[in-house]
Amino acid sequence: MNSPPLLDVAGLETHFPVRRGLLRRQVGSVRAVDGVSFSIAKGRTLGLVGESGCGKTTVGRSVLRLVEPTAGTVRFAGTDVRATHGAALRALRRRMQIVFQDPYGSLNPRMTIRAILEEGLVIHRLGTADERLVRVRAALERTGLTASALERYPHEFSGGQRQRIAIARALVLEPDFLVLDEPVSALDVSIQAQVVNLLVELREQLDLTYLFISHDLSVVEYLADEVAVMYLGRIVERAPADALYRAALHPYTLSLFSAVPTIDPARRRRRIVLSGDVPSPARPPSGCRFHPRCPLAESVCREADPPAAGDAVHVVHCHVAARELDRAGDAGAAAARITDMLARSGSATLSGGVGT
Ligand code: SF4
Repeated sequence: MNSPPLLDVAGLETHFPVRRGLLRRQVGSVRAVDGVSFSIAKGRTLGLVGESGCGKTTVGRSVLRLVEPTAGTVRFAGTDVRATHGAALRALRRRMQIVFQDPYGSLNPRMTIRAILEEGLVIHRLGTADERLVRVRAALERTGLTASALERYPHEFSGGQRQRIAIARALVLEPDFLVLDEPVSALDVSIQAQVVNLLVELREQLDLTYLFISHDLSVVEYLADEVAVMYLGRIVERAPADALYRAALHPYTLSLFSAVPTIDPARRRRRIVLSGDVPSPARPPSGCRFHPRCPLAESVCREADPPAAGDAVHVVHCHVAARELDRAGDAGAAAARITDMLARSGSATLSGGVGT
């Protein structure tokens, strides 16, 4: 029997009010996250991908209640996170940490590395001063830095080292779960691989569970067991990483994949060029939210929200994908047909990325 997931998110919504006028009356709301569900088993990694502004960062922050969700449930190790308050919420937060994208902005420039790493232990009243120092040193060493960093300041370190310090700050509280919010996007490409490898090692050594948020599909492929693709506040496709990279079904997912540079001729894809901008989450389109940009949109797409199609592990929200799955009987054949339809739609151009 499968063990229950460490994190279980159901129907998560996070809306932000839009206010106008002298009296700051609410005139609408931005539906940044609008009905997102997923779960992550212990020791596994879910990659959450999509363009900037799709709501993926808000999902990560809502799960930790760094922003307050509007609706839905978030259960962590069986505890209802949204119904938890005070000391119980603090105890839960010790087990759920976040690493932010910007290692320059997320570390206080006036604090030494020792003070930055110790801060969480002080807030959670963990250990004596000597015990805290032992934990701070251990966390720093786990990320490949030495105790010589302790009395120095963030500006004395490179971007990659600062992100290691940010990871050490999360680890010092001995969490079970990390939200990694674009943790390598601000780093040089040469440093990205080192930090990604470090995250893989730490996951194995400490049995950590990750929600890995990124717009970079090649990094996600390396790290994630399962991938969820977000568009305009909703998950449009979710599958085990190998299944998604082999046979993506949603036209939006296929357009994201087509933009990934590759030097492997076997993986070279036609570039799918989407027209138009991402619509405002304050006024999401009717029916399928992707329809104003989708090369395969039909009249039903403008009218009806696509329900979930596929099987228990590979789920897609698309009318055309659902029909092709019915016809073809398996995801691989359906994905090939949808890719062919996109190529014939005139939205695809042969580019193939690096090397062409
Ligand atoms: Fe495109 Fe229609 Fe599928 Fe939406 S439901 S992705 S508009 S084909």
